[in-house]
Parts: sequence; structure tokens; C-alpha cells
Amino acid sequence: MSQAVVAVFNRHVPRLKKGAGAEWTGFCPIHDEDPTKSKPSFGFNEDSGLWVCRAGCGAGSLRRFLAMVGVGDMSADAAVERVRHLLVRTDKAKPTFRKARFTSQDPLPRRMLGLFDPYLSDDLLYDGFSEKTLRDNDVGFDTHHMRITYPIYDVAGQIAGLVGKPVGRYEEGKYRVYTKSDLEELGYTQRLRFDRSHYLWRMHKVAKMCRDTDDPPTVIIVEGYKAALWMVQNGWEATLALQGSSISDEQLLFLQRLGCDLILFLDNDRGGWLGTSKIGYKLRGVPMRVATYPYKDARIQPDDLTQQELLVAIQESRSLHSWRREYGLTSTKFTQRTQQRSR
Ligand SMILES: [Zn+2]
Repeated sequence: MSQAVVAVFNRHVPRLKKGAGAEWTGFCPIHDEDPTKSKPSFGFNEDSGLWVCRAGCGAGSLRRFLAMVGVGDMSADAAVERVRHLLVRTDKAKPTFRKARFTSQDPLPRRMLGLFDPYLSDDLLYDGFSEKTLRDNDVGFDTHHMRITYPIYDVAGQIAGLVGKPVGRYEEGKYRVYTKSDLEELGYTQRLRFDRSHYLWRMHKVAKMCRDTDDPPTVIIVEGYKAALWMVQNGWEATLALQGSSISDEQLLFLQRLGCDLILFLDNDRGGWLGTSKIGYKLRGVPMRVATYPYKDARIQPDDLTQQELLVAIQESRSLHSWRREYGLTSTKFTQRTQQRSR
């Protein structure tokens, strides 16, 4: 029994209820769960101090919980210090990335990249990307399907799947995931369906950068592959691409566990603004800022900016709150407007 641990949670979690063993449940204070609208999503274990919100706020230690409900560092440290001797240490308290959800169960062999010629991506060279940038990120060209290819690595650096951008007069268009038959045409098979929303592009590189250092980098989050390549080429090696303007539960969990400060740098258009608002809300508790575009009204994305403009956008990044105010995205009005649009 750790009354003191329960007392710490009780200060923040409405309607705590004792469950089986050392488990407790309540309404999640991190996302201000409304007791009239849902069942309790929050739970913790009084022996370990570990908690979880099943609605998507994440999971972690008591210290992390206090940070996520907005308790200042000094008070949180003091509160944890007072109960530290009561907490049973478990392996679960140290989440690692070596978990099934960040690791492909059916990776493609690395040798398949040998099929693709890195020097045929004329489109990207024309756009100002260097051969080195393309080579370092294994961007290639599939002459069979006429697509620029982007291997999507899992956190362990295995190829979880392949994405290609068709080029040429008639097939110009969207990025597409290589299907089973696309891969079979190249002589490879994949049993399980690859879901790219489980991964962030370049996650294996960035996880390593955040793990292997005492001075973690600030991680830049962009939408697309080209934006990420552009950031990297201009010196921001710790850049991840969402592969869109929304975030999946897996991606969210990855960013929450990364242990690095984040800067959201989505496209400067309606989709990017809505994505920034939503993702920023979901990432509450993780130190995060929003990059500012030099031209507020131009529909542009990071790879439209010069290195100097990128520098200013990053240096003048601001809190989600002040970014929203600057763009006039006051909560209810903006939500209504964007919902109407998407209807
Ligand atoms: Zn929650």
C-alpha cells in the first residue's frame, strides 16, 4: 500500500477508484476527460507509480505524469523524491523503442535498394537537392515503375516498406506505397501489409541521435519527404517526416518517448495549420514549439525557403498558444471553420 503515491495522483485525477490489486482508475486530467461523456481512460499502479491513458495521452512514470499535467519541474521533482522509496522498480518504467510497434515484423531486405539508381532522380537534383543528401537518405529511382523511391525504415533501421513518387508526363502525382504486386514485379515479397502511418520517416536516424548523446538535439517535425530532405541538407539532421499532416497513435507515442524537444514545421496551408493545432494539442506535456514562416500568407512549405529563412523560422519558433494567436486560430472558430471545410 502506498497511500502517499495515491495521494499524489489524487490531487490531479478526478474520481479515482480502486481497482484490482494495486491498480486505480479515474478520468484523465491530461486531456481533461469529461466524466459525462466517456468512461475513465486513466489508470495507474500504486506500487510502481506507472500510469497509462487509454485515450492516447500516453503512459509513463510518476515524474512524467506530473510534467504532463503542468506541475513545474521543481515541485514535480520534490513530489517524486518524497515517494521514491515507496515505488517498486520495474522494467516497464524504462520504455524502450525496441518494441514490436516500432519495429517491422516483415522487413524488406536491404539489398533491394541496389535495384534503384540514386543518380536518376533528376527532378530532385533540379530542385536543388545534392547527390549526397539523396544518397545519405537512400532516395533512389525505380526505372521499372518510373518512381522516385523512399525506403521507410523502422526504428531499428530495417526497411519496413517502400514509398514511390511517380514521375513522367502521365503519372505525375501522389506518393504511393508499394503494394504486394509492385514488390513482386521487382522480385520481392512482403507478407504483411505495410502501414506507413506507424512510422516517421528517418525515425531510425533521429532515435539514435536522441539516444546516443548527453546533449539531445531539437527535433524538427515536417510533413513530407522533400521537406525533410531539405531540412537535413541545410543542417537540421534531426528532422522527421510525418508523411502527411496528421499523426497516428504510434507516431505520437514515439515522439513522447523520444526525450527531445520538438519543433513543428508543417506546411503553411490549411492542412498544415489544422495538423499543427491537432498535433500540438496531442503532444501536450512534451516540450514543443512551432516554426514561423516568413510570409504568413504564402502557401509554402519548408523546402520553399532558403537556408537563411529556415534559420529565422526555427529561431523564431513560438509556443503553440502564441502561434495560434498570431494566425487568428482561436480554438472554437478555427475548429468550426475547418470542420465545415472538410465536410
Ligand atoms: Zn488522457
